[in-house]
Amino acid sequence: MKSTVSVIGAGTAGLIAARELCRKDIKVSIYDQKSVPGSQIHASGILSLSGLKTLDVDYHKASTNRLYGANIHAGGENIEIRSKEAKACVLDRKELNEICIEEAVREGVRMNLGKRVTGTELDVLHASSIILGADGAFSSVAAHFGMGSIGRYVLTYKAEFNVGGRGGVVDLFFDRETTPGLFGWLCPNSEDILEVGVGIDSKKGNAKKAFERFIKTKEITKIIDGARMIDGGASMIPISRREQVVDNVAEVLLVGDSAGQVKASTGGGIIFGSNAAIIAAEEIQRHIEDGTSLASYEKRFVKEYGLDMALHKVINSLYSRIGNRSIGIGLKCMRWLGVDSFLGKYGDMDRPSLMIKRALLRSA
Ligand SMILES: Cc1cc2nc3c(=O)[nH]c(=O)nc-3n(C[C@H](O)[C@H](O)[C@H](O)COP(=O)(O)OP(=O)(O)OC[C@H]3O[C@@H](n4cnc5c(N)ncnc54)[C@H](O)[C@@H]3O)c2cc1C
Repeated sequence: MKSTVSVIGAGTAGLIAARELCRKDIKVSIYDQKSVPGSQIHASGILSLSGLKTLDVDYHKASTNRLYGANIHAGGENIEIRSKEAKACVLDRKELNEICIEEAVREGVRMNLGKRVTGTELDVLHASSIILGADGAFSSVAAHFGMGSIGRYVLTYKAEFNVGGRGGVVDLFFDRETTPGLFGWLCPNSEDILEVGVGIDSKKGNAKKAFERFIKTKEITKIIDGARMIDGGASMIPISRREQVVDNVAEVLLVGDSAGQVKASTGGGIIFGSNAAIIAAEEIQRHIEDGTSLASYEKRFVKEYGLDMALHKVINSLYSRIGNRSIGIGLKCMRWLGVDSFLGKYGDMDRPSLMIKRALLRSA
């Protein structure tokens, strides 16, 4: 049985997995094709404070803003969700990755940055070590070991504008014509920088064109009028699980975007992907020490997060399928029923199952 691990991909999921494995006295080497790893380094990082606690990462240095709520807009209606305390924060993704690298190195992870792992190199590493693929949405590990595909992706395009004064509130705009399959967003990355972005179903067009349409809408033009666009770029997020995420016989596992462990309702993948990384490290340890099957990694992930992943999928298919007017009516009803203040108090952006539990307890 193999007793060392090669982690391919030094994004958040790979680095957390490697750190956890080292803490368990397992020899780990991590490889990344970039010298500054993390394919989504220019992506926003809105993370719930409750989710961040579970990662055991000292993220404070990377935090650029704290978030107290969201405005949701659709079909000419909107609801405002507010909380007295900050529920989430915006993290500088480059800084977050640097912190994760420092923590991994401190625990003894051997870093190999600026080195793309090819199929031949994967075979060499695989001959003597367990392979943990954390190499993002277009995983070479998954392709090399025949672990199937990911069914759904969203395309994103986002840019920063020098607009301040938005406080700690995110705006989400649902519009089936402009952003089919996801939404447009405004996120105050800091006091004077506003991120404007869109996500659309990858089968429904071009994200840059959707972005151009979005910033020309009345609501957005009003906000960014006269501002300077600082940075812009496109990306892709997997929003469904890969067909296979573990192969016990081959001793290969996938975590993070490579496994499609992303919330389908928002495209957020850091909390679930990193929690999967922690579970994977625990199951690798049991496999090495007691010979248990690595298949328990997938079973545990589904047991702990399967319901939430399914609920995020339901939310995504709801807003993707119904028209703007119907979403608008839905928002109006939510306001009338007081759902906005319920969400402000009990909302959980990662784990809707916990929110439902709270609602049931409240009504009992
Ligand atoms: C615009 C946008 C906004 C987002 N906003 C949020 C958000 O607010 N909150 C949130 O939680 N998530 C967000 N996400 C999603 C989040 O960025 C991803 O879920 C997360 O980055 C996945 O981390 P990962 O470690 O699995 O993979 P990645 O960050 O993709 O890292 C994979 C690493 O593998 C390396 N690699 C790939 N192939 C090889 C190879 N053959 N050899 C060596 N190295 C290799 C890459 O260089 C990269 O460093 C956003 C994504 C986008 C695009």
